[in-house]
Amino acid sequence: MNIPNSEKIYIYERENKRCFYCGKNLKYRQITLDHYIPKSKGGTKEVFNLVLSCRKCNKLKGNRIPRDYEKRIISLFQQAFGDGMIKSEKLIIPREDLEEQILYIDRIEYIEPNFVFQSKYMRFYIKNNTIERIILLGRKYED
Ligand SMILES: [Zn+2]
Repeated sequence: MNIPNSEKIYIYERENKRCFYCGKNLKYRQITLDHYIPKSKGGTKEVFNLVLSCRKCNKLKGNRIPRDYEKRIISLFQQAFGDGMIKSEKLIIPREDLEEQILYIDRIEYIEPNFVFQSKYMRFYIKNNTIERIILLGRKYED
């Protein structure tokens, strides 16, 4: 898996150096990164879809999709955005509106070919840790 070191270190620190599944303390050289939504189910290597895992847990989890995936992925995405790990330079909406709407994301619209999140007013298309496109929904931004 080709994950830049900066992202690996971010995930390592984010999880407090512990296996996401069993809580075991891990040295950096012991870690593996698990696709929370598995690759085989369309999960990509976004920082918010990768969790720190010991080898054993990674193997045990295999290709299963965790039941709480939607809530978990949204929360990891919101955290990654807050931590400056998600790029959004080309967007035309004001930064503070973007920050607010990201906190309002309440569902994953779909996963393939990229992650699409949705709040009441916006739909966010994410690829390579970048918000590539936003579609405005409803009336708030039409005026
Ligand atoms: Zn573990």
